[in-house]
Amino acid sequence: MIKKQMKKKSTKANKLERLDKKYLWHPFTQMQDWQREPQIIIDSGTGCTLTDIHGTTYLDGVSSLWVTVHGHRKKELDAAVATQLRKIAHSTLLGLSNVPATILAEKLVKIAPKGLTRVFYSDSGSTAVEISLKIAFQYWQQKGPEFTSKTKFISLREAYHGDTIGAVSVGGMDLFHSLYRPLLFQSYKIDTPFCYRCSLGREYASCGLACADLAGKMISEHAHETAALIIEPLVQGAAGMLLSPPGYLRRIRELCTRYNILMIADEVATGFGRTGTMFACEQEGVVPDLMAVAKGITGGYLPLAATLATEEIYQGFLGDYRELRTFFHGHTYTGNPLACAAAIANIDLFKKEQTLAKLRPKVRQLTKELKRFGGLAHVGDIRQKGFMVGIELVKDRATKEPYALEEKIGIRVVQECRKMGLIIRPLGNVIVLMPPLAISVKELMRLVDIVYKATEKITEGAQASSR
Ligand SMILES: *Cc1c(COP(=O)(O)O)cnc(C)c1O
Repeated sequence: MIKKQMKKKSTKANKLERLDKKYLWHPFTQMQDWQREPQIIIDSGTGCTLTDIHGTTYLDGVSSLWVTVHGHRKKELDAAVATQLRKIAHSTLLGLSNVPATILAEKLVKIAPKGLTRVFYSDSGSTAVEISLKIAFQYWQQKGPEFTSKTKFISLREAYHGDTIGAVSVGGMDLFHSLYRPLLFQSYKIDTPFCYRCSLGREYASCGLACADLAGKMISEHAHETAALIIEPLVQGAAGMLLSPPGYLRRIRELCTRYNILMIADEVATGFGRTGTMFACEQEGVVPDLMAVAKGITGGYLPLAATLATEEIYQGFLGDYRELRTFFHGHTYTGNPLACAAAIANIDLFKKEQTLAKLRPKVRQLTKELKRFGGLAHVGDIRQKGFMVGIELVKDRATKEPYALEEKIGIRVVQECRKMGLIIRPLGNVIVLMPPLAISVKELMRLVDIVYKATEKITEGAQASSR
């Protein structure tokens, strides 16, 4: 009987594996490799673990791509979505309003940096970024004839703001973006403020933030033709968890104010506690003019995003109907009630469970645990901001020579982790740790331990075989 059931289960699993390989096209994935190798299909999850169709359980070390905050199957979030489901699953914000979208808007404004007072919803980080770019552009077009030349954007090298064309235009990751260049609008690029590989060859803090001075030069030169500067505050996530030096963000805010360009903070990755505070901007006392949020907003439950704006920007869109100052933008599922209900419950949990206060000792513990990695011969740099961690592997620590792409060093470490029951995802040669904020200390220690063992095995093993 049991045997029969197991057989049935494994046949079903085999079928799913066949269907995946036959019909799915996975994001950011070379499908030729995908087809050849065994893959994991997730069936369920609870807390910080995921279970696949064979019943194997893994720690979720990437928060299901940086979104999970309070864990999977969180009672309060499940209940919030179920309750909303008994009322209505979707209703539009175009020409109508709905209850959860209204309640959530106030909650977002209350937790956001002071001065951001208006909420425009969409469904992904990319759309939240597109919206911030279009609002910034239109704002100046409507402000007066002396400002209509402000049509361009300034962004950072190695920036990642999403995959839609506008977001890619202000992106700076050549590996992902260079092919699309003919489709993109031009944006002026500031060098990445990244101390481990400082493009100016300087050292913090004796450099006096020379990178910010350089940014200032670019901003002052182009301010008259620039609508906005967009930046990932404190951490350039997808580029490999590049941390900007303390004070940099503050300086950028001051420069944007001085030269009269809008500052857009892309808090899609950093928002909702990821860096230790609700939003990364808080850590340098910065209030952006526009702020894009997504990923953690629903605690990882449903796709939802928002672009927050200051009252001054919002006012710039008011006027007689015939003036056409309307922001002509909106996605079909904008302000989806189910997603908003999840987001409300998620934000309430931050207070109820003291998520940020409980995070602090875990962040310190993690910092302590990560020190061990410094003893590995191929660990070049260990970067951490709150619960965003990047461990950069290098071929040669003295020269900082990177591993070649085809060595797939990050991928190999991650595969080794899977064998030990942990799911993480690398960014090139950088091993990324992004645990859910609610992870227990015990699980956190296990996570670090697995990554350490896998890194040691793959990097020190690789060194031995190449000799
Ligand atoms: C993930 C991410 C985006 C894109 O969000 P999607 O929901 O994947 O479109 C934009 N900006 C940053 C900083 C991100 O990390």
